Amino acid sequence: MAFTTDGTEDDSLHEECGVFGVWNVPDAAAVTALGLHALQHRGQEATGIVSFDGARFHSHRGMGLVGDNFSNPQVMDTLKGRIAIGHNRYATTGDTILRNVQPLYADFEFGGFAVAHNGNLTNAHVLHRALVRRGCLFQSTTDSEVFVHLIAISLYSTVVDRLIDALKQVVGAYSLVALSNEALMGVRDPLGVRPLILGRIGSEGTGGWVLASETCALDIVGADFIRDVEPGEIVVINDQGVHSIMPFGRTRERFCVFEYIYFARPDSVMEGMPVYAARKRIGVELAREAGVPADVIVPVPDSGVPAAMGYASEANIPFELGIIRNHYVGRTFIEPTDHIRNLGVKLKHSANRPVLEGKRVVLVDDSIVRGTTSRKIVEMVRQAGAREVHMRISSPPTTHSCFYGIDTPERSKLLAANHSVEEMAELIGADSLAFVSINGLYRALDKNGRDPDRPHYCDACFTGDYPIALPDQADNRDRQLSLLAESH
Ligand code: AMP
Repeated sequence: MAFTTDGTEDDSLHEECGVFGVWNVPDAAAVTALGLHALQHRGQEATGIVSFDGARFHSHRGMGLVGDNFSNPQVMDTLKGRIAIGHNRYATTGDTILRNVQPLYADFEFGGFAVAHNGNLTNAHVLHRALVRRGCLFQSTTDSEVFVHLIAISLYSTVVDRLIDALKQVVGAYSLVALSNEALMGVRDPLGVRPLILGRIGSEGTGGWVLASETCALDIVGADFIRDVEPGEIVVINDQGVHSIMPFGRTRERFCVFEYIYFARPDSVMEGMPVYAARKRIGVELAREAGVPADVIVPVPDSGVPAAMGYASEANIPFELGIIRNHYVGRTFIEPTDHIRNLGVKLKHSANRPVLEGKRVVLVDDSIVRGTTSRKIVEMVRQAGAREVHMRISSPPTTHSCFYGIDTPERSKLLAANHSVEEMAELIGADSLAFVSINGLYRALDKNGRDPDRPHYCDACFTGDYPIALPDQADNRDRQLSLLAESH
């Protein structure tokens, strides 16, 4: 959720992002740029780094990729210090102006403060209205700025107490990295919807610390994984080490299941589970639940590859690269109009005719959102001479929009929200279509199935079971609090 400059809500802006931070490493900004590069899949629209040299903060923010901004030695020379945080932004529509690019930075009476946020605050518009009424002057149209103002007006004296004060007023899904003169801080929302991990870099005793959205960002900078930041936990990192605070008490986690299905990089480990292995196991479940006689299993690259491998091994049918992806175009999703999006899919994939001609083909992808990708791919595979085309999807039907930081269109544009599976098969032109069941998905993730009384993940996009108050419920503070209480 974000708001437009006149303070109204802008539902179209759902931010998926990557965050990274380091404490006490040489060339902190360069290390941060590397970490952000490994997290580039979480956001390609804009990027930024704020560093601290012990006396002054330095900032560079720009549109485009990490490499476009931070391979310039002149820029890197300005980002001095052994401490830094960074952010990759992935907003599909809405304001793409530089002032929305994070980390956000402000000078306070207690010193400097920078923050980078992954997720969505569902009561940002309510807080924004209240803060503007109090005279706060917003510089950006991103909901993350709410944190900055709440911290600025807090009556507590230390930065950490002010941060806790702010966190108690926001509702939503968030992972934050923040930097003050005294500490690097990492925060996960009470349900731990968005990921954040803690790592160690350099030698024990003299070395520094890393915070990152995913473990793949540790590998690239040579850091060791220590642990996931806990749901509802604040980690405060300074020269004394890592101090943990649980301002919400113990909460029951509802980690985003879509991170496993699509969003995270396959070489990351989330909540102790390697993403690649989880995706393969979902493919195994899919083959068990919805197998169909076929000659070849073909992934929709890259998102369908691990699930297709799992499917092929379980079905004992050859896995082949029947579709080749051109890596030099952005994700189709970042194109704002249907027309351009349609063009985008053609730019991105081509059929590998010899693999498909005369064959009964099972195509495997991770999800169907609007149905644009599936329709184009099925058509392409048929044109390449496939005899039958069966579509298999390694997630349940996406029937609900995400309000917690994954970009999904409004419900009216979600194919599965408006059509039966049979209708969807017809619309995408497939001979058959099947999705893994929600219980199959949970079995693949080492659960016995979905326990409706104690759901483990946030799976609102598949079930409509929203664990955090939605924007239209955000005025009702009782409801927010009761939802929080339920999670304890
Ligand atoms: P669609 O063409 O609208 O049905 O989108 C489905 C395709 O987009 C699939 O190939 C997914 O891998 C990919 N996808 C699903 N969710 C997202 C997302 N939140 N951001 C970017 N791509 C996505």
